[in-house]
Amino acid sequence: MAPSSTPGKNQVFIGTFIHAKCLGELEYLHNTAVCVDASGTIVAIEPNCNQQKAVETLYARLGWSLDNVAITVARHELQFFFPGFIDTHVHASQYPNVGVFGKSTLLDWLNKYTFPMEASLSSLSKARRVYTRCIRRTLANGTTTAAYYATIDVKATNLLADLCYSMGQRAFIGRVCMDRLGPEYYLDESPDHAIAATRATVEHIRRIDSNFELVSPIITPRFAPACSSEMLTRLSELQKQTQLPMQTHISENDNEIKLVAELFPDGKSYADVYDTHGILNEKMILAHAVHLTEEEADLVAERKAKIAHCPCSNSALTSGVARVRWLLEKGIQVGLGTDMSGGYSPSILDAARQATIVSNHLIAPGGQLSCASQEERDKAKLSIEEVLYLATKGGAQVLGLADKIGTFEVGMQWDAQLIDLGRVPDDVAEDDYAIHGNLDIFGWETWDERIAKWVFNGDDRNTKKVWVRGRLVHE
Ligand SMILES: [Zn+2]
Repeated sequence: MAPSSTPGKNQVFIGTFIHAKCLGELEYLHNTAVCVDASGTIVAIEPNCNQQKAVETLYARLGWSLDNVAITVARHELQFFFPGFIDTHVHASQYPNVGVFGKSTLLDWLNKYTFPMEASLSSLSKARRVYTRCIRRTLANGTTTAAYYATIDVKATNLLADLCYSMGQRAFIGRVCMDRLGPEYYLDESPDHAIAATRATVEHIRRIDSNFELVSPIITPRFAPACSSEMLTRLSELQKQTQLPMQTHISENDNEIKLVAELFPDGKSYADVYDTHGILNEKMILAHAVHLTEEEADLVAERKAKIAHCPCSNSALTSGVARVRWLLEKGIQVGLGTDMSGGYSPSILDAARQATIVSNHLIAPGGQLSCASQEERDKAKLSIEEVLYLATKGGAQVLGLADKIGTFEVGMQWDAQLIDLGRVPDDVAEDDYAIHGNLDIFGWETWDERIAKWVFNGDDRNTKKVWVRGRLVHE
């Protein structure tokens, strides 16, 4: 296995830095130097700085010598550094199925496409191929942190952890627990079996990354319909013992909600099922939350559980649209997820794009689109600045990492991407339209307009370099 992710050199990054420190606002730091020490931690942010000034003043202040500093300069007005994207909900094991969903909805999609693919990854050679490509693809799209679901197979799950660690992606690795709903060939024999398998993965990850600094286990009950009451109780006990984070799904689709009501007749609601089993707490990441009731959302807020909003998936599987503004106003922390392969795209930039687009179909809670006032409709819409916040700092909050990643601040870790927007040449004879992908910047756009164009037409071709904890992980 490759060594851990410290580059061994101090680094200086110079140019324009853009990040979302609060919801709805991007901060632009132009002509700035960000100094990152050999451990990957930001140790200084210097405004009004260039390469020469950095060498003359910053090195002395930091006690750095010239020969032990690597410099990266964002070269012109159309390059900038942006925090790495955070995918708060993604199934690495479903990656080969991206785009393959037909007209299915959640429950038939699981049986037709998902369970057979996940079960097939008990072949470790297949798992290696799938997981390696999934990590490469998401890194290339600027995803520096991912909360992964693997499969029920311990060896394949451990392999995903190994690959994230060696390829340098910050990751949460979930061994999926499910003792019902799945086909016979893809089920935990018992809650005991699921607990032992989860513990085995936790111990494996502890051996490769003892403090879970880059790769951490995450307790993963698939979702309520796939877990017996005993399973949920046992996983809750395990969570209390280990204090590990947890992830599951909630209220994605109408038939799923009906199934939860049938399977847990004593439960007052879907959220209540998780709550009465002791797993609705500040360590829990709930994917989707499309159809939560007012009472459920209030309960989620009260328990400080987090939500992964997966707009791509929710559109693909006809699940609906989560009311993100409504969730945020209740004080719930929300991040974005690709939810591959319910979602078809590996890109969190794409999730941000979809988050703003689907919010246009919403109204403020309580009414129909046709009778909503313009003010209500406008309120539900998410801006570019807001969805980029969800893609970075919001995701960091959801994963309990807001003190480490998501923004550029002294003391935070250098999880970042260098974006190149490209520019349409002034001389049409020099016009090579393919260089910068889908994005055409003419040079007269304001920075806000450039960022909007990036969100709507940018892709991995604009993501030139990606770092995690100071280590270059994609170029
Ligand atoms: Zn999912």
